Amino acid sequence: MAELSTDVQFIRGIGGQRAKALEKLGIRTLRDLISYFPRAYDDRTQIKHILDLQPGETACVEAMVTAPPTLSRVRKGLELVKLRAVDDSGALDVTFFNQAWLKSSLKAGETYIFYGRAEGNLLRRQMTNPVVEPLGRGEQTGRIVPVYPLTAGVSQLILSRSIRQGLDACQDILPDVLPDAVRQGHQLCRIGFAYENIHFPASAEALDLARRRLAFEELFLFTIGLRSLRSRRDEIRTPPFREVDMAAFYSVLPFTLTAAQRRCVEEALGDMRSGKPMNRLCQGDVGSGKTMVAAACVYFCVKNGRQAALMAPTEILARQHYDGLAPMMEKLGVSCALLTGSMSAKTKRTISGQLAAGEIDFIIGTHALISGSVEYQDLGLVVTDEQHRFGVGQRAALASKGNSPHMLVMSATPIPRTLALILYGDLDVSIIDELPPGRQQIGTSAVSGGYRQRLYDFLRRQAEEGRQCYIVCPEVSENGETPDERKAVTQYAKKLQTEVFPDLRVAFVHGKMKAREKEAVMSAFAAGETDILVSTTVIEVGVDVPNATVMVVENAERFGLSQLHQLRGRVGRGSHKSYCILISDSKSEETRQRLRIITKTGDGFKIAEEDLHLRGPGDFFGLRQHGLPGLRVADLGCDAALLKEAQSAAVALLAEDPKLSSCPATAARVAELFAQNAETLN
Ligand code: ADP
Ligand code: MG
Repeated sequence: MAELSTDVQFIRGIGGQRAKALEKLGIRTLRDLISYFPRAYDDRTQIKHILDLQPGETACVEAMVTAPPTLSRVRKGLELVKLRAVDDSGALDVTFFNQAWLKSSLKAGETYIFYGRAEGNLLRRQMTNPVVEPLGRGEQTGRIVPVYPLTAGVSQLILSRSIRQGLDACQDILPDVLPDAVRQGHQLCRIGFAYENIHFPASAEALDLARRRLAFEELFLFTIGLRSLRSRRDEIRTPPFREVDMAAFYSVLPFTLTAAQRRCVEEALGDMRSGKPMNRLCQGDVGSGKTMVAAACVYFCVKNGRQAALMAPTEILARQHYDGLAPMMEKLGVSCALLTGSMSAKTKRTISGQLAAGEIDFIIGTHALISGSVEYQDLGLVVTDEQHRFGVGQRAALASKGNSPHMLVMSATPIPRTLALILYGDLDVSIIDELPPGRQQIGTSAVSGGYRQRLYDFLRRQAEEGRQCYIVCPEVSENGETPDERKAVTQYAKKLQTEVFPDLRVAFVHGKMKAREKEAVMSAFAAGETDILVSTTVIEVGVDVPNATVMVVENAERFGLSQLHQLRGRVGRGSHKSYCILISDSKSEETRQRLRIITKTGDGFKIAEEDLHLRGPGDFFGLRQHGLPGLRVADLGCDAALLKEAQSAAVALLAEDPKLSSCPATAARVAELFAQNAETLN
């Protein structure tokens, strides 16, 4: 008998070849298959009379084919099948492109359902390439049809048939992860009904019930998982840090901290004095000055006689932190060092030795900090910067180098406070909601490709004034496939270099390059040796090049708003007026509305909120990157009330039965979802 972990190729009716196709969608097991939820639905339940079809309207008609379809070859590579179909009200002319087989499969005298966009005029109604199926089959018409996110090689129909097979295979084995009392208490449908109707809704109401139940379930399990992480943590004790006079630290800063920075520092120092390990998220918009909050914590820790570590996601960021912080720290009598993967083995050994001997107070580095051979004498504080690039596991790995060290996580992805509290339920949250004084607005505009020449002229003028520019290309193409980013970026850079800016220095960087190559390109750019840098979003995080003043984003419609905001944050970091230019040829009203938001506001929190509303359910926060389970159904932008309900249900259950011994299916699913966090869970 099938289990949820069964490989899909063993499900009746699927087989090896289709399993391979499904794998491209990340579907491997039966559980993956039935949890591959539609991104939208097409309501094809209404059958219209041909006479009532309005031009431009998409609808189903039920009509009989009047005569055998004709096939004509217009030219090479273009075959037309034409037919006429009638119902009681009128006639419809139907044309199919390049589907020659329909000539013989559609029979005169038979009745079919055609689903498509009505064209023509009130006298002559037409459809081109409609979905067609025999009356009574009811697979693609006559019901609410799911629309799945797809990739090349898998069609909606194939996927939907596979899911049908999957659902049939697990009829009796789906465990209900919601305890009965919770399910009934919150008027939620049973699990079988939910999976059936999220894929094959019997009606709009059934779909609502299914969605509500699955969203609730996600939020419920999520809350339980995070609460468990937190409660494990609450049991841990650590010697409280003592009070330290911070005046010396403040006196070496070239500026005074903003009120928001001070508040975050106070919150963090409070944690470290409390006798429990700090586990705090400090989130602030790009440029809000998170580094200084971290520095204050480091100083506080070192004055308490313990070591501190700051881990950055890339070598260049680590180096930047080192260059910025080390001189200041040395002045304060704090000994600093840098440790990155590209250093020679010998240097690494030396630094590791000094760390183990306690000769280094503050170490700044990359993943190298968590490598097995690195030991610390007494690690008291771990700071991770730009944490959306680190998984929970990596944070934990660094923490394990010390004896329950304090953890400060810095994130530049602003999210509304309420959501932060949920998503980072295992963390306390501080928010820097204020920028240092005197920041300039970054002039942001959204333009179409028609402006490209003017844009190039503008870039040239900036370069002539000694400024530098970024041009970012998307990593994902229109149909959701991952194109060859290497090709896109290198070709574009080459074109710019040879055809547009032969006299300027153009360079490129993308994710497929070796870390060392990337670092080299970035360092050259930071050193002002490049005028124009063509890149993928690899430059999205943290890099600080004050001389860069223009950020151009190609195909801006393919980026999320928060991501665009992050990209924009790469400029405007110096004293020069800076610009962000979003290029998009998209005609979609929704896209234009999205891009308008970002041109209108520079407030990352506002942008995040809008993004959340517009993007709907999915992996908005990169939860999976954090090592937390993603949300597939729940939409945190819209399901706020449901979230409250699910949270209170989870809290009530945990209060009554903290070990979840009364509901093993719930416990098992939470453990599975939070498997990556197992070390912290156990
Ligand atoms: P982020 O939050 O994006 O990491 P940074 O810590 O890199 O921001 O700070 C951005 C810039 O603002 C840096 O050049 C930093 O020196 C400067 N800065 C930070 N705090 C202040 C402040 N209170 N007043 C003026 N400048 C500040
Ligand atoms: Mg930063």
